[in-house]
Amino acid sequence: MDERDIRSYTYEEVQLALAGMGEKPFRAKQLYQWMHEKLATGFEEMTNLPGSLRDRLAERFTYTSLDMVERMVSELDGTEKYLFRLSDGNVIESVLMRYHHGNSVCISSQAGCRMGCRFCASTLGGLTRNLLPSEMLGQIYQIQRLSGERVSNLVVMGTGEPLDNYENLLRFLRLLTDEHGLHISQRNVTVSTCGIVENIRRLADEKMQITLALSLHASSQEKRKELMPIAYKYELKDVLDACRYYFAQTGRRITFEYSLVAGVNDTAKDAAELGALISGINCHVNLIPVNPIKERSYSQPDRSAVEAFKNKLEKYRINVTIRREMGRDIGGACGQLRKSYIEEQRKETGV
Ligand code: SAH
Repeated sequence: MDERDIRSYTYEEVQLALAGMGEKPFRAKQLYQWMHEKLATGFEEMTNLPGSLRDRLAERFTYTSLDMVERMVSELDGTEKYLFRLSDGNVIESVLMRYHHGNSVCISSQAGCRMGCRFCASTLGGLTRNLLPSEMLGQIYQIQRLSGERVSNLVVMGTGEPLDNYENLLRFLRLLTDEHGLHISQRNVTVSTCGIVENIRRLADEKMQITLALSLHASSQEKRKELMPIAYKYELKDVLDACRYYFAQTGRRITFEYSLVAGVNDTAKDAAELGALISGINCHVNLIPVNPIKERSYSQPDRSAVEAFKNKLEKYRINVTIRREMGRDIGGACGQLRKSYIEEQRKETGV
């Protein structure tokens, strides 16, 4: 982690840092409140701290706050897509979804991604860098400020592979669910991974109450390799064993994500193989009709094929939902807003 990045410090670390600066304990509490409850965008907003302390803090630390570049609001369901600029000029995207059970935010965990999933727009330009804990938090904080509404649920399903940025992710999850901060319930947090086996196991050992979503997308090792290069590194059997271990350690039911691609993984045979593969696992399957991207020729199965796939899986006593498409009118698949922005910038600057 970056020692200067005060907004990634835990409450205990802020206490230590301020004690080291000769400040009384209540100052640490005030500072932490400004950063994680009142969601200040800079030291200058912290009006109950003496000006001299604010100056010393600004000399010693950096303060992460994201700049909004673009905000698109769906007229269909109120979904909002945000593009944020980081302090080094990189851009990332996040989404606010409104459900009857509350507001859910989908955040990015990296700028870009190096996992290479064939149908995904976020990975086309490769990985630029990992996001800091404060930059993951910053997406939620800015959305809460800009929308004026409380965020109660979080999914780490935006650009990036969260378990490829493990230390920062874990620190972020601790800060987010800390009683001194936004205090989002661990049960309302989902982390989605393409299946980095050793880090699924590490996360399981933390015994947090967060939901693990595993991007499966295929019912055999061979087919998974066609869609997800990470399958060359990990055997499907080992990925599923790690999921079983996650359930054993945390008691949290696993979510399997399965993007349905017409003619690739959507047949009755695929559904039957999938059912047999996961039938013993305490799980839930989320079917996602693939969101086509222009760089690839993948397309969605028609509605009846999606329903048939669901019915077949249910015969294996598996709980299945079909993901509702949110914000269709402000659309595009995950990662496309960021990508088109970067392409525009390149055109304008000629680099
Ligand atoms: N790297 C993580 C989280 C990012 S993507 C992961 O792999 O899980 C969140 C989910 O959306 C993943 O299941 C991913 O495979 C899926 N996804 C990405 N692009 C998609 C697309 N164009 N259509 C349908 N699902 C997609």
